[in-house]
Amino acid sequence: MIYLDNGATTKVSAKVKKAMLPYFDLYYGNASSLHEYGQRAKEHLENARKRVASLIGVDASAIYFTSGGSESDNWAIESACKFGELKGKKHIITTTFEHHAILNTLKEKEKQGFKVTYLPVYENGIIKLEDLKKEICQDTCLVTIMFANNEIGTIQPIKEIGEICKENNIIFHSDAVQAIGQVPVNPIEMNLDMLSISAHKFHGPKGVGILYCNKKIPLFNFINGGAQEQGKRAGTENLANIVGLTVALEEALAHLQENSLKETRLRNKLFDELTKIPHSKINGDKVNRLPCNVNISFEGIEGESLILLLSEEGICASSGSACTSGSLDPSHVLLAIGLPHEIAHGSLRLTLSKYTTDEEIEKVIACVPKVVEQLRKLSPVWYELEKGRRNHLI
Ligand SMILES: *Cc1c(COP(=O)(O)O)cnc(C)c1O
Repeated sequence: MIYLDNGATTKVSAKVKKAMLPYFDLYYGNASSLHEYGQRAKEHLENARKRVASLIGVDASAIYFTSGGSESDNWAIESACKFGELKGKKHIITTTFEHHAILNTLKEKEKQGFKVTYLPVYENGIIKLEDLKKEICQDTCLVTIMFANNEIGTIQPIKEIGEICKENNIIFHSDAVQAIGQVPVNPIEMNLDMLSISAHKFHGPKGVGILYCNKKIPLFNFINGGAQEQGKRAGTENLANIVGLTVALEEALAHLQENSLKETRLRNKLFDELTKIPHSKINGDKVNRLPCNVNISFEGIEGESLILLLSEEGICASSGSACTSGSLDPSHVLLAIGLPHEIAHGSLRLTLSKYTTDEEIEKVIACVPKVVEQLRKLSPVWYELEKGRRNHLI
């Protein structure tokens, strides 16, 4: 199989797996226990926290281990909203194409009387700073804008957004789940108050993530119980996962540049070759995007059929995000960048990793045009386009 769905999840690296194993039957103590096993676990836990903190250049006390990106996003928004409410501020600014962990949490906040402004992301999938400046008001308590989009990979001007938030004394949170390990993420330099990270997107295990939260924002108690995570998130720590995350992050950051160069080269090759297919279009900014992300629409076909046929050819790809597949609604991300419904339906997302090879990309380049042609032959929409009864949209 050729796995090109790394935006959905990644393989655990050999180094990470090896690092995790002793925590199942050797260092299995509960970090809250007083005996030798417990104290050793505690040491390893705090050591992991320090290592992660130094990797992103922050204080260890600002690192909270969570169950992943979704939890970190929920916790960040709930905390910022509670803090805002105390000051009588109930306005949030975000974008139209956030991950559902953000969008659905904000929907709940709207029900609770918060006002949410959704900034447009335009055809290139990037916000305009003037739009953000215009929307900020006395009432704004939180700006939450994703670092890099999970479907089209476009990267936001995070440092500039951070400056605007700082000038206006507004909490700035970013979902950096797709960005970390792919592009440099520096919370201090970028004026980020809160940051969400998930290990399984950079060759770590599933079910573990980080919420970075600086001391300006009081995190509320997310899970009541024991005193873990500074008393704010109870539950015996999943040390195997936490160590896995730490090693995965170390590995990703140590090889960031070489992986990024390789993936960018392979990505551009896919862009060059796949856009030779007539009536195709790259979605999102071509340059200002993650090295691993390819997203292309082909007119006259259904993305789901394309994915199924590619799977039969031994290629794992996706159309839109894994979270929304299964529903037949077109991707909210592709609609947000202005694609008409029928074009949004015919999209292909290929997400590369450090394990992706030249040979694999050659196979994909040979396979996709054939499959697109095959599907177009069976497509009533394509038939009408060919007969001139419908106008081409791309
Ligand atoms: C995968 C993903 C999440 C969710 O992370 P989990 O660890 O799976 O909960 C959140 N945001 C973005 C941008 C993602 O890509």
